[in-house]
Amino acid sequence: MTKESILDAELDELRRLLERVDISEGDLIPLMQEAINNWTPDDLNNDVGEVVTVGDGIATVKGLKEVKYGEILLFARGVRGMVQELKPGIAGCILFGDDRKITSGSLVKRTKKTAAMPVGENFLGRVVNALGAPIDGYGKIEAESFRRIESPAPTIIERQPVNKPMETGLLAIDSMFPIGRGQRELIIGDRQTGKTAIALDTIVNQKGKDVICIYVAIGQKASSVAQLTENLKKRGALKYTIIVAATAADSAPLQYLAPYSGTALGEYFMRKGNDVLIVYDDLSKHAIAYRTLSLMLERSPGREAYPGDVFYLHSRLLERSAHLSDAEGGGSMTALPIVETQAGDVSAYIPTNVISITDGQIFLESSLFFSGQRPAVNVGISVSRVGGDAQTKAMKKASGGMKLSLAVHREMEVFTQFSSDLDESTKAQLQFGQGLMRMLRQRQYHPYSQTEQVILLTAAMHHVMQPVAIDKIDEFCKGLLEYAPEAMPEVIAEIESTGKLSDEHQQKIITEAKKFRDKMFPSEG
Ligand code: ATP
Ligand code: MG
Repeated sequence: MTKESILDAELDELRRLLERVDISEGDLIPLMQEAINNWTPDDLNNDVGEVVTVGDGIATVKGLKEVKYGEILLFARGVRGMVQELKPGIAGCILFGDDRKITSGSLVKRTKKTAAMPVGENFLGRVVNALGAPIDGYGKIEAESFRRIESPAPTIIERQPVNKPMETGLLAIDSMFPIGRGQRELIIGDRQTGKTAIALDTIVNQKGKDVICIYVAIGQKASSVAQLTENLKKRGALKYTIIVAATAADSAPLQYLAPYSGTALGEYFMRKGNDVLIVYDDLSKHAIAYRTLSLMLERSPGREAYPGDVFYLHSRLLERSAHLSDAEGGGSMTALPIVETQAGDVSAYIPTNVISITDGQIFLESSLFFSGQRPAVNVGISVSRVGGDAQTKAMKKASGGMKLSLAVHREMEVFTQFSSDLDESTKAQLQFGQGLMRMLRQRQYHPYSQTEQVILLTAAMHHVMQPVAIDKIDEFCKGLLEYAPEAMPEVIAEIESTGKLSDEHQQKIITEAKKFRDKMFPSEG
């Protein structure tokens, strides 16, 4: 058959068709013209796509042409997901529900919205998951509004310097590494060195101080979270606390999301003018969850197999803590991120990243912890970069010279370790340092008030404690604090109301402490 004969056959076929519908060939032209004039581009449906692969809390979808990074997608059977990876023709997303409910080939719909967290006063005292749903069994939480889980940090104009103290109630921290409201102070140390304990003590110490606390648990055992909730409740601290938990049993996407959800809750209160304290326990596990989902999204691994943007993962989180300017309501959000190290190695990837983001770190050491020095703060390498401005005058005056004395003590301890015959002044110096270290020991859930700290520090730094035997220091501190209210009420009143300590009052503390010592510990005196 030639080309012409095929064309003729086609035309014949067309004529036959036209006869059947009773239209002549001449009428066809205007009909075609009309069709062309009225033609509009087809409304291609780009809002519904199809799942390509699914598994391990991750799904890849195709057919969503204009889908955006961070957008929430709706899958079959109510499962939601968030777009985390955009490749040509394919979007990778993390799932917030049971991934067994969807299969490859099932439909997925765009929502054109980004993830949001329900927020409101009713969340206080509750335990919620990374999506804001209650998991404590006390029923539904009535939210006031929603806040975006990812939102930009306050701008420079919106901020003011850190100038109010956020007291931890721990002598070792408040005296030497003071934390200010709006600061980010890292708590770093090996496993089982009392990291969580410091954060919990700080939460318990906020009782009656009008601070909202948020504790974000990432990748912990559900039983630990339950125990911690119970502990806070027992000490009356749950009333002003919200616990956001993504436990080890939750999927990597939920663990990844939890700190941002907690921060969204914190921002709600901060923007209302409240002071907020947020604890992220811990960011090492957060980074690991992020690594897991990044590898499953087929992003290329970098150092320690973390993806390239793991610094941004934590910087964009911690930058949201701030002290807002008075024009913005003057609220603040103080962050206490926790990072776990392996064998004290602070130069690993995640520790160095978070150290460089935060405004200081409290370094906890296993050897100190096991020798009974708890909280096990390593005074040598812990720092607080902005909190000094937040310390009250009384505290500054009382704790002056403390860090230096302890540094001298550490050095001397090393030198004198092996020598037996020490001169009197060296011995005295050593004993002074040991006494200070002993004073810094503090039981869990026994915070000191600011005034108590000032009294103890003043007595210690003026060598009142020096003659007291090391194993009696505890008793001395306890006794002195019980004795103080009746011995020097005017001093306590002044510190509490003005935050200042006059020379005269300082002298009063010293004389009273001496009097107390001579009465209670006569042989040593
Ligand atoms: P993990 O690595 O498991 O998270 P962690 O570093 O958070 O551990 P914690 O759980 O806070 O450590 O503390 C470990 C143990 O030490 C707990 O049993 C806790 O009660 C105890 N502990 C912590 N601080 C003190 C303290 N100041 N005095 C007495 N015991 C303490
Ligand atoms: Mg812990």
